[in-house]
Amino acid sequence: MGRKRKNGECAYCGNDANLTEDHVIPKCLFTKPNPPNMIKIYACKDCNNLKSKNDDYLRDLLVNDMFSANSYVAQNNLVKSFRSAQRNTSDFSRQIIPRANLIPFHSQGGIYLGEVFEMPIDTSRVSNIFSQIVCGLFFWQYKKRLPSTYEFNVERISADGFIFEINLLNQFIKEIQFKHTKFNDVLFLAHTTDSEDEFITKWWLIFYGAVIWTIETFPPELKSI
Ligand SMILES: [Zn+2]
Repeated sequence: MGRKRKNGECAYCGNDANLTEDHVIPKCLFTKPNPPNMIKIYACKDCNNLKSKNDDYLRDLLVNDMFSANSYVAQNNLVKSFRSAQRNTSDFSRQIIPRANLIPFHSQGGIYLGEVFEMPIDTSRVSNIFSQIVCGLFFWQYKKRLPSTYEFNVERISADGFIFEINLLNQFIKEIQFKHTKFNDVLFLAHTTDSEDEFITKWWLIFYGAVIWTIETFPPELKSI
C-alpha cells in the first residue's frame, strides 16, 4: 500500500494487477558483476512466482550440459549446482541423478572421449521453461504479448546440428531483420520474425558459448504442415 502503482501488463498472462519486476533470463545463470543489460519486464506476482520455481532447474540443466564444460561461468555455477545437490534442494539432481546412465561419448570425428552421463530430462518442464522465456523476450522486444494460442517448438541443438545453426545465424547476421545481443559470457541471444506474421519467430539462445537452444513460435494452424 502507498506504493506507486506500476503501469503495464504481465508479459505472460496480461494481468495488470500486482505487477512485479521479472528477470526474463534468471539472475542465477550469471556470476557477479551482472551484465548492465539484464532483461527486465513486468510480470504479475503469480506468474513471477511460478516462473522463479524453475530458475535453479534451468541453471542446473545448462551447467550440467557437457557442451558448457569450457565455460568459466558455467563451471562456477556448476559448483552452486553441486552444493544444492548435496543439500538435496535441487529438483534437477533429485529427478535426474538417480536415473542417469553412463554412456560412451565420441567427438564429431568419432574419437572416443570417455564416458558422460546421459540424463533423461523432463522434456515438458524444459519446454515450458523456454516457452515462458520466449514470451518474456517477445514482450521485451515488441511491447506486446504473443497470442496465447501460439505454440512453441523447443529444441536443444546436438553436436550434429551445431554447425548448421551457426551457419544459419551467420546468414541472418547479414540480413536487416536479424537482432542479436550478448550478455557477458553467459548468453548470446538472437531472433528473427516472419515478414508477414510478426508472431512467427525463431529464437537462438546460446548459453556459455556452447549450449544452443532454439525456440520457434507459430500459430496452431501451422502444426499439421
Ligand atoms: Zn501473469
